[in-house]
Amino acid sequence: MKALTIIKTKLITSIALVFALTACSDNASTDNTVKAEFAIAIHGGAGTILKSKMTDEVEAQYKEKLQEARDAGYLVLENGGTSQTAVLAAIQIMETSPLFNSGVGAVYTYEGEHELDASVMDGSNRQAGAVAGVKTVKSPIELAIAVMEKSEHVMLSGKGAEAFAVSQGMTPVSNKMFDTERRLESLKRAKAKMQVSKNWSASEDFRFGTVGAVALDKNGNLFAGTSTGGMTAKRWGRVGDSPIIGAGTFADNTSCAVSATGHGEYFIRYNVASDICARVEYQNKSIVEAGDEVIHDVLLPVGGTGGVIILDTKGNIHMPFNTTGMYRASKSSNGDESVEIFK
Ligand code: ASP
Repeated sequence: MKALTIIKTKLITSIALVFALTACSDNASTDNTVKAEFAIAIHGGAGTILKSKMTDEVEAQYKEKLQEARDAGYLVLENGGTSQTAVLAAIQIMETSPLFNSGVGAVYTYEGEHELDASVMDGSNRQAGAVAGVKTVKSPIELAIAVMEKSEHVMLSGKGAEAFAVSQGMTPVSNKMFDTERRLESLKRAKAKMQVSKNWSASEDFRFGTVGAVALDKNGNLFAGTSTGGMTAKRWGRVGDSPIIGAGTFADNTSCAVSATGHGEYFIRYNVASDICARVEYQNKSIVEAGDEVIHDVLLPVGGTGGVIILDTKGNIHMPFNTTGMYRASKSSNGDESVEIFK
């Protein structure tokens, strides 16, 4: 009789456990329906971007360039190209535009130069490539891809990275090629503020315009890339999150692809890009839940400002940011498309 009671109790406990687990996984499960066969999302930086401080003309210029970059990447995907080629196409358009803080238009270091950072990651195999602090490379994103494909390494920096670029047939360019009057003015303002506050990162307008792209191709492969000049008046070879795999860039077909923009020190410390993907993979969260948690609940309370673009293998796109604006655009094969700047 006592044995029967024990068996009964165990049975009830097991049934209860099964119910609890089912309920739990139901709550956490992501939507598995395919939203789009292929898609692309891009960003051109996040920060204190206020509509009141932007003329209609400047707003139109940004939107036009974002659309051009997005459409270039989308065309690659539509024609059956890889997500890698799509990301490269989109980012190179932004690297050559003075509007963004990457390539031409990159911010100045304290010494009045440009030190460029970039990284890429392939979601199909977790291959990755990155470069930091390069001064003579026209397209840092192209060099990051070369590091991934043609070297045994993941990350190269400074003079070594520049020598590798030459070894890959890339002609060095003058650092002056990246100069713009607007960024020089920012450097002057930054230095003036630093005289007073000694707090380099106090002013949010010391950056803006890092560029990034995430894409999903017809083969179901994700790819992510990010390219930047970093933050105005950076010193001592400072490197932000953009060239750091896991912080500024991450892609894995089992979860999602992410490219970040914001105050790099926080994105490194909170491992932002891979934390979002880890929440998707291990906690079975949607990219909306995972992205919002990290950007709003983790970063914001500690003072980390910025945003991310996220794409999963179902073609879902999410672009959360905790600043007043983020230059961003997206397009999916299901017909959805957007080009936006403000909240
Ligand atoms: N994340 C970049 C950096 O810290 C800057 C930016 O995204 O605006 O270098």
